[in-house]
Amino acid sequence: MLLDKDILQLFSLRDRVAIVTGASRGIGAFIAEGFVKSGATVIGIGRSDSSLVTENDSFEYSQCDVTDTQAFNKLCERVFEDKGKLDVLVNAAGITIPVENSEDELSAFEETLKVNLLAVHSCCLAALNYIVKSGGGSIINVTSISSVLGFPGNPGYAASKGGLRMLTKALAIDYGDVNVRINNLAPGYIRTSMTQESFDDPRENELRRNHTILGRWGEPEDIVGAAIFLASDASAYITGTDLFVDGGWTAKGMK
Ligand code: NDP
Repeated sequence: MLLDKDILQLFSLRDRVAIVTGASRGIGAFIAEGFVKSGATVIGIGRSDSSLVTENDSFEYSQCDVTDTQAFNKLCERVFEDKGKLDVLVNAAGITIPVENSEDELSAFEETLKVNLLAVHSCCLAALNYIVKSGGGSIINVTSISSVLGFPGNPGYAASKGGLRMLTKALAIDYGDVNVRINNLAPGYIRTSMTQESFDDPRENELRRNHTILGRWGEPEDIVGAAIFLASDASAYITGTDLFVDGGWTAKGMK
């Protein structure tokens, strides 16, 4: 036999310990629950006092703001002490402040960079400390198709996700030799509270649907398989890359 591997084991997250930011709802909550179903112990965080999902005790949830560097450091330390290791960090927490909804364009830009880029950097550094002590692992940064394409009316979002895309590649180089893989997971339009307004507007909805190859919006569960892949041994030789989960949005020129 050439392939001496248990294929299910390859995609399993059994015995892995993961922190998922932005787990109070949306994409982060689905990833956290998907990881649990793959066998991981998951600690999800958000600013809200509870997660939509934890009512079923699917994963542990802690209230923590990713911009509070000290609080996130403490959380990583507590997880490492309680669980004995830390293998995976998913940075899914994110915000969007369209210019038309902001009173001051400059502060909207700064706030977006603070949450979507600066906080992800500090969360990566805090978690890396413990992932390295655990012998290595995987970090997944949730970017966007906006990390490689321009969209109107929200320069802060594009700048934050484009910056995050390159932060991932830079950190992947710095931590490759200590066995940490760091990748971007780049969703297209996914139906969550972040995109509810455009989903509910028939014209905006159709514009987005029509731009995909698959002819539909994404659902949060569409992201889960890609996240499990990037966290598991199935992606053992993948680091510093972008995995687009966008229904073909970035591949489509014209039809
Ligand atoms: P939601 O608005 O539904 O969820 C955002 C999550 O981020 C919530 O759990 C929120 O929790 C958390 N969050 C925001 N700010 C902070 C903070 N300062 N500290 C801790 N948690 C925070 O958005 P989505 O699920 O759609 O988005 C998840 C990620 O996916 C984001 O990074 C987003 O940019 C990205 N993305 C989304 C796309 C989409 O179409 N939906 C497309 C491309 C990328 P709380 O409010 O409790 O703090």
